[in-house]
Amino acid sequence: MTVAKHVQDRVVLNNGVEMPWLGLGVFKVEEGEDLKQAVKASIAAGYRSIDTAAIYQNETGVGEAIKEALAENGLSRQDLFVTSKVWNADLGYEETLAAYDASLEKLGLEYLDLYLIHWPVPGKYTDAWRALETLYKNNRVKAIGVSNFQIHHLEDLMQKTEIKPMINQVELHPYLTQKELLAYSKEHQIQMEAWSPLMQGGLLDHPILSDIANKHHKSVAQIILRWDLQNGIITIPKSIKTHRIAENANVFDFELTNQEMKQIDDLNQNHRVGPDPDHIDF
Ligand code: NDP
Repeated sequence: MTVAKHVQDRVVLNNGVEMPWLGLGVFKVEEGEDLKQAVKASIAAGYRSIDTAAIYQNETGVGEAIKEALAENGLSRQDLFVTSKVWNADLGYEETLAAYDASLEKLGLEYLDLYLIHWPVPGKYTDAWRALETLYKNNRVKAIGVSNFQIHHLEDLMQKTEIKPMINQVELHPYLTQKELLAYSKEHQIQMEAWSPLMQGGLLDHPILSDIANKHHKSVAQIILRWDLQNGIITIPKSIKTHRIAENANVFDFELTNQEMKQIDDLNQNHRVGPDPDHIDF
């Protein structure tokens, strides 16, 4: 596997579409100046991928910021990779088709690069997936995928439907390394993408990670993001601070050794900061 060397390097998904290895997450960022500045700072810093969701209630602001950033940086829509997700309340064939239109409307875009089923709500995700298949077949979205799917959800989905997901976006960080899911995904060419890669800031003082960071003259955040890339995982750290947005993109000029990769892998505690996909009640 070749590891990304540049902030705009992309991975080829199982349908041939290329997706940047690094993106900006905007969970919990409300509409307003912070959101606009974060999206614009990320694009100015070289990011070409933005991850939002209907439930974040910031698609309108994300869309406005994208429009301004494209104009200011002399970029066109095709240069950017935009992801959104269908929320649980909208899972269902017709409901999901309508949710896609609503997201596009808010974002002010004609298509998304990636549309995901946000959570595997039992009894609902299969019909929602059929809607995503329709959108994909009608060329209304470049790639489709899932989020928070465990192996058994993927197996079930692939048995019942036609198109294999291109992406599975899951909680993944040094305390939740997801090795089994990662191996399964590689075997089935479903690209893994890490959410809360920085464990929402909860690992930044970790002594082993700090030690590795000092050796490379990098921050702990940069070490974790580099570990994602060297594991072949797309990563979407969130920050609203311009200097951290730039810092999080400055991870393409050094390499963790095999031993350091193992040291980080060994931190796993199967610890989640978000909900367990097998026990969701929302
Ligand atoms: P992250 O793991 O990305 O951590 C974000 C936190 O870390 C923020 O508090 C941020 O603060 C801080 N931070 C970021 N960079 C640095 C840095 N270099 N140094 C110090 N602190 C830093 O958490 P998220 O939960 O936001 O996950 C990332 C993205 O994943 C989300 O924004 C969303 O797009 C997606 N996601 C998807 C989910 C799903 O179910 N599919 C669920 C949760 C997230 P500050 O902003 O102040 O810099």
